[in-house]
Amino acid sequence: MFRTRFAPSPTGHLHVGGARTAILNWLLARHHGGSFVLRIEDTDRERNVPGAEAALLDDLRWLGLDWDEGPDTGGPHAPYRQSERSSLYRDAAGRLLRGGHAYWCTCPPTGQDETAQGRRRCGCADRDPAEVAPPGAALRFRVPDQAEVVVDDVIRGTVRFPVSDIEDFVLLRSDGLPTYNFAAAVDDAEMRITHVVRGVDHLNNTPKQVLVYHALGRALPVFAHIPLILGPDRQKLSKRHGATSVAEHRRQGYLPEALFNYLSLLSWSSPSGEEKLPRERLAAEVELDRVGASDAVFDRDKLRWLSSRYVQEMPPGQLARALAPFVDRERFPVADEEMPAVAAALRERISVLADADGQLEHFFGPDTPEAREARERVLADGEARRVLAAVRARLAALPEWEEAAIKSAIAEGGRDAGAKGRALFLPVRLALTGEEHGPDLPGVALVQGRARVLAALPEIGGEGA
Ligand code: GLU
Repeated sequence: MFRTRFAPSPTGHLHVGGARTAILNWLLARHHGGSFVLRIEDTDRERNVPGAEAALLDDLRWLGLDWDEGPDTGGPHAPYRQSERSSLYRDAAGRLLRGGHAYWCTCPPTGQDETAQGRRRCGCADRDPAEVAPPGAALRFRVPDQAEVVVDDVIRGTVRFPVSDIEDFVLLRSDGLPTYNFAAAVDDAEMRITHVVRGVDHLNNTPKQVLVYHALGRALPVFAHIPLILGPDRQKLSKRHGATSVAEHRRQGYLPEALFNYLSLLSWSSPSGEEKLPRERLAAEVELDRVGASDAVFDRDKLRWLSSRYVQEMPPGQLARALAPFVDRERFPVADEEMPAVAAALRERISVLADADGQLEHFFGPDTPEAREARERVLADGEARRVLAAVRARLAALPEWEEAAIKSAIAEGGRDAGAKGRALFLPVRLALTGEEHGPDLPGVALVQGRARVLAALPEIGGEGA
């Protein structure tokens, strides 16, 4: 059974790098018909941030990443949490202690001196393993007498770590809580994770985890350390480069499908060469041996392009619902039932949902003194008022507020008033938007809605007013 995991620490927002790791693990599990496990690594109490776990789960769900199991049976799965698994680490620690692979240490963290064998360890290593833990002691791993630890990595090849670089590291801190390297190795072994796929920043932790695996007598998983995500300047992606968390992308109105698609293909590509792929295709085509070792550059333009493609393909009702929270209704008083028309008009013009307001400004006209004056001027012009009133009468009689019908009504109103071309369209446009140029007039009227359009145009009989 193919089993992968995503093991975030609840220390902050889900970064796009973390999301990419989660996505790759999820895709691999789906590809192989295996399981994807979510494990919250929350044993470092000082680094845990309240609310971070809930936000993390929310972001994962938004991306459509579901996990297959959890500690409780039935119902929606809660993730595994290391804080709820302490007995496992204690048991494993006991086994290591009894097997001579660990010892209690009361020295300060800097007490590990170089020994004659080139090990970094202290005198506590000679304690009697049967001795009860002295108060305040930490449990240290006894790094074995061997020259190196070899890590076979699917992406990096064989990586050798000299044992002289590895101190007798802590397994259980003096407060009894496990360290990351110990808890991760115990959990990966206990959860029978077959493929550990994570960021290359964890490669240097891997020899310690491999040593724990060996000492516990467990078979190693396959390791795959995936490349980092860099900014366009090839520095580690950070705030300077713009949005770095999933939450920020979500707030900016990137569609989850687009972010998922983009992050999926950061270090491998489809044999078809296609860039826009639904998750089923991504899952079908993903292979660990397709993942390259070179760092990936975060290309926001490409992400925006992908997002625009997903926006264009969204079913109208769904796009209308997605857009609704992004429209500033104070500035653009669009009713919910008018949202589908807005969605249709904006679909080709936006890449992310948060582009909506900027585009709507073209449909409603800018909220400036100049635009207000332009509107007042056209309404004060007797000839223009006559044309506008004729158009209004035709629009008011429309059974449906629909683009083609609006277009004909404007033309008919023009005929009624003996105006066509610029003499017809310019006054209507100025009255509605205060601008001389802008999107197609019937589209403008459609987006503004019947009530607003009729209110902006003078009624017949009021021409001289
Ligand atoms: N908790 C670690 C992190 O968030 C997990 C590393 C791993 O996948 O082993 O970076």
